Amino acid sequence: MSIISIALPIPKRQLFDYLAADEIPKIGCRVRVSFGPRKLIGVVWEINQESDWDKNKLKKIEQIIDAQPIFDATQRKLCSWLAQYYKHPIGDVVQSAMPVALRKGESSEAKPTNYLTLTDSGKTFDLSNLSRAPKQYSLLEKLNKVELTKSQANQDFGISAVKALLDKELIQDVSKPHQINTSWQQQIVVQGKPQANVEQALAISSVEAKLAEFACFLLDGITGSGKTEVYLQAIEPVLKQGKQVLILVPEIGLTPQTVHRFKYRFGIDVGILHSGLTNTERLQVWQKSKNGELGIVIGTRSAIFTPMLNPGLLIVDEEHDASYKQQDGLRYHARDLAVVRAHAENTPLILGTATPALETLNNALTGKYHHLQLQQRAGKASVATKHVFDIRQQPLQFGIAQGMLDRIQQHLEQGSQVMLFINRRGYAPALMCHQCGHVEHCHRCDKPFTLHNQLYKLQCHHCGSAKPIPQQCNQCQSNELNAMGVGTEQLEIGLNKYFPNYSNIRIDSDSARGKSKLDTMLNSINNNEHQILIGTQILSKGHHFPNVTLVLILDIDGALFSADYRAAENLAQLITQLAGRAGRAEKPGEMWLQTHDPGHPLLQDLINNGYGHFAQYALLERKTANLPPYTYQALFKAQALNPKDAHTFLQNVAELFSQYSDVWCLGPIPALMEKRQGQYRMQLLLQAKQRSVLQHALGQQVNQIETLFLANKVRWSLDIDPQDF
Ligand code: ADP
Ligand code: ZN
Ligand code: ZN
Repeated sequence: MSIISIALPIPKRQLFDYLAADEIPKIGCRVRVSFGPRKLIGVVWEINQESDWDKNKLKKIEQIIDAQPIFDATQRKLCSWLAQYYKHPIGDVVQSAMPVALRKGESSEAKPTNYLTLTDSGKTFDLSNLSRAPKQYSLLEKLNKVELTKSQANQDFGISAVKALLDKELIQDVSKPHQINTSWQQQIVVQGKPQANVEQALAISSVEAKLAEFACFLLDGITGSGKTEVYLQAIEPVLKQGKQVLILVPEIGLTPQTVHRFKYRFGIDVGILHSGLTNTERLQVWQKSKNGELGIVIGTRSAIFTPMLNPGLLIVDEEHDASYKQQDGLRYHARDLAVVRAHAENTPLILGTATPALETLNNALTGKYHHLQLQQRAGKASVATKHVFDIRQQPLQFGIAQGMLDRIQQHLEQGSQVMLFINRRGYAPALMCHQCGHVEHCHRCDKPFTLHNQLYKLQCHHCGSAKPIPQQCNQCQSNELNAMGVGTEQLEIGLNKYFPNYSNIRIDSDSARGKSKLDTMLNSINNNEHQILIGTQILSKGHHFPNVTLVLILDIDGALFSADYRAAENLAQLITQLAGRAGRAEKPGEMWLQTHDPGHPLLQDLINNGYGHFAQYALLERKTANLPPYTYQALFKAQALNPKDAHTFLQNVAELFSQYSDVWCLGPIPALMEKRQGQYRMQLLLQAKQRSVLQHALGQQVNQIETLFLANKVRWSLDIDPQDF
């Protein structure tokens, strides 16, 4: 008797056994089963002869959804690896790996396509009768020669022309099963390809030498050094062999400009996957890629799960970017999964960045990855000079020192754009009473409320709760309430007053909500409609602003003294990426950093010696301190209304691991953000010198944790290779 083991969306680290009804489903197909009172959709994961359960009590599968597997052997391998490495329930992993439409049971087969063809009267129709309707004329003329899909005709000739001809019964709408079309290979035309410079050529040929095998490359190139050009030229021979390319980009980096570069170079359709798509759109790209109908797929984090018929190359752009790590549920790192995938599919992988993650750099320095370096800017652009500006004892206007305002003025007068970076949204990070010093706090998070003047409210940036701006102090009833510190909103107002002849644009998650809004903003900057760009993190990510010659960073002092050991690395990446926004075209650029601590060794090292030097030094420090990448970590987090529950739970977890002499436990200690949304948060960090040691211990204990007395009373999670503390 065949036992069908199914990955169901149930938070348990196991498969669930069922019996076949009459037909045995194939491994990798979706099936519908009853689970308790519910009907669930799961994926057949294994077929065995034996079960750990009483065979007589096993239920039968109710329906087989797919005739052909939606998970091929590689996809299954990746899911199994994820479940095993991240100690995550397999059913939940499988869900994450599927487009939402498939989770809901939609057909995995492409939908039929609507075509337009001529009717009998259309075939004999005298075209000259349509001389006054040119669109209808050309459409009918075209249909005389070729068949068109309805959507293509709507796009090329307009919906009304199509409708008019349908109404006149000159054409008809026929639905045909989707024809798998893999002809892109014949359509490739290479256009706009520059001669690679020496460094690029070396990088390209290194990748080309390994196209038929697994190999991992770190493409370590300063901003503007032509990394994208290296991708393009490395992709070319892959596509010409008819193999597919998957490119991951950070969420915010996926702009029409990026996509256009790939589309234009090869003249073929590019599949795009990001969080702004509808479920149907996502499913279509998934289907086309699986069927080999797309040569190139570009997408954000979860695009790493996109199946490919004939995979040839994987690229992770801006590999250091934090958006590749999922921060809830299945806490996977898409870059790390890309390495596993490339290995499973036997293809090369390029990790590109100007600021490699220390883990990645270490892999390159120890020879695990091939280290390709681009140290010159491509084309005519020169590298921006970097400076610190000492603001101790300096009066600041809306957060900016006079010396820096003068600099801004100079650059504006030369017709350039300037970019100001500040990592705080809103008007001011706090509202303080001048009489008694009271600061309005969010009680659920114990953090000051941010003042948002434009929204007329105080908002907590940790839990989102908001309330009207008070007129009086809560403690002493004084009405002298002052904004403390500077946020993007205040900066914008200040700069508007100070430079009335120049236009400002503020780009942060308040103003740039939604993808198309950000695209519009980026376009208006490139059209020089604005001269002063104010923004948060969003601005640092890979956008091209050829006319920006001055980048000014206003407030990083907080990050210099963070308790999180990754803060220094992230800050160095941020500063370097921001500096990379200046002087990308012919004009030379400069970056200035305002600070109260101009002698800080991190800043000095970064400014004088660059990211590469900083990173090597930071690695040395990590080694001395026994931190990753020289050790391996797993972080248990627990939260509860009562801090004691969270603490006791993690204490019990720590006891489970006390038997492993080479697993070191730190905690339980309060999380960096101790209270959030009314919940107290604690954490327990496990660390080991070897990955396998930590994996082994976790593998043995993770199911025990489920049975702990408090496991159902606290919300807890396990984060392997945590990035955030
Ligand atoms: P990165 O991805 O490293 O930031 P890009 O690939 O975007 O760099 O290149 C920066 C600029 O230099 C782009 O405008 C690109 O078209 C141009 N460029 C890149 N390589 C070359 C080359 N070999 N010759 C001329 N221009 C180049
Ligand atoms: Zn007061
Ligand atoms: Zn809050």
